Order: sequence, then structure tokens, then C-alpha cells
Amino acid sequence: ESDGNVIEVAGVTRRFGSKVALDDVRLEVPRGTVFGLVGVNGAGKTTLIKHVLGLLRATSGSVRVFGRDPAADPAGVLVRVGYLSEEPELPGWMRVGELFRYTRAFYPNWDPAFAEELSRSFALDSRAKVKHLSKGQRARAGLVLALAHRPELLVLDEPSSGLDPIVRQDILRAIIRTIAEEGRTVVFSSHLLHEVERVADRVALIDRGRVVFSGALDQIKGTHHRLTLRFPEP
Ligand code: ATP
Repeated sequence: ESDGNVIEVAGVTRRFGSKVALDDVRLEVPRGTVFGLVGVNGAGKTTLIKHVLGLLRATSGSVRVFGRDPAADPAGVLVRVGYLSEEPELPGWMRVGELFRYTRAFYPNWDPAFAEELSRSFALDSRAKVKHLSKGQRARAGLVLALAHRPELLVLDEPSSGLDPIVRQDILRAIIRTIAEEGRTVVFSSHLLHEVERVADRVALIDRGRVVFSGALDQIKGTHHRLTLRFPEP
């Protein structure tokens, strides 16, 4: 890990056939920051996140997380990361309690008391079958799984699309701030700049696979509306 950056993305291009999903992306996420990734649907947020997690390989360029290539060592990176995807894929046949016990086996740092506390605060019934959970409850269960091993890096892909307003506004913000105060790092994506603004220290604006702005929030004040409503043509 160089210069205190948890994530270093340098010149990453990713193609799917002829489609360029990421175009020469450069991104640095310093340790302990809350970093917002903002862009409209299809801009490339999820694709970028999947490169950071080692779930996709770049066509060219380099990705480093904790100084390592996540695609070369996904297990070594993922054990230190908490990830909540847009639509968490959870085994429907398991009960919530089983889901947590099962996941625990993969994480040496899993904190059962913390998992229990989160689960209670999210009003999750440990006896409920995962397939019977609502979309919001499923997102809450996914959030417990993302947090219970106290990851150094928490990655949330459009958490507000799955989480209900109460979780989104209060719990999520509290969780994110607590994590940052503990010197850990949070990356989360959203298509709403105003939502990101309320919690993030730094943001990157991504438009059609390109990072068009990356920096502290106060630097984009003024370009705010133009950038959220419609990205300008080059
Ligand atoms: P959303 O909020 O809709 O998830 P996003 O910003 O996360 O949007 P991505 O899902 O990263 O966007 O998609 C970026 C672009 O890459 C889109 O044009 C998408 O169609 C394309 N893309 C992503 N994954 C694939 C794939 N496996 N095959 C082909 N094209 C893909």
C-alpha cells in the first residue's frame, strides 16, 4: 500500500466486446476516507467496483487494493473487504441465523456479538428464511454480512436502491461515519450527488466510463446541477 491509499486504480480500461465500460480510469482512495462514486445508470460504477473487488479483470491498466492486485489474489483482498452489492445474492433456503453462521466461517475477524447487535438494530428475525425477506430486509441482511468481520474497506454499491429510507438516512450514515472515524475506508456508489454529499469526504464523478472529476466535495460546488442532471458533451 503506497502513499496511504487503500485503492489505486491507474489507467484502467475495460471493454466488453466493442463496448468500452471503463475508459482510462484513474482513482486513488486514501485510507480513512468516505469516498462517493457518482454517475448515472450505466456510467460504469458497478464495473469499477467489480475491478476493485477482483471480480473483473481490466483489459489494460492496473488495480491495487491494500497494495495488491485483487484479481490475482481475490481471497487475500476480500477477507479484508465488506461488500454490499446492488442485489445481494443470498441463499433463499437458509434461515437468517444460518446465513450468518455460514458466512462467519470464511472470516477470521468475524465478530459474532457485533453481528448480533447489527441484526437486532435492523430488526432481522434470525429464524426467517432468506427467501421470505423483503427487498429491504435482504439488503439489511447483506449489510450485516458486509460489516460483521469489521472490514478495513467497506464497499457499498448503490446501497440506497435496496435499503428503505430509515436505514438509508440514519443507520447507514451512522455506520459509514463510525467506520471512517475508526480509520477504515468506505466506498459507495450512487446516482444521486446530493445523497453522496451528505456523507462523503471525496467524490469521483463517472460519466460513460470516464472519471470526469475526482476530489474533495467543495471543489465541485457550482458544477453540481449541471453534473447531476445531465453530463455535458465533451
Ligand atoms: P447501474 O447503476 O445501472 O448499475 P453502473 O454505473 O453501475 O450503472 P455498469 O453496470 O458498470 O454501470 O455498466 C457500465 C456499462 O458497461 C454499461 O453500458 C453496461 O451495459 C456495460 N456492461 C457492464 N457489464 C457488462 C457485461 N458483462 N457485458 C457487456 N456490457 C456490460
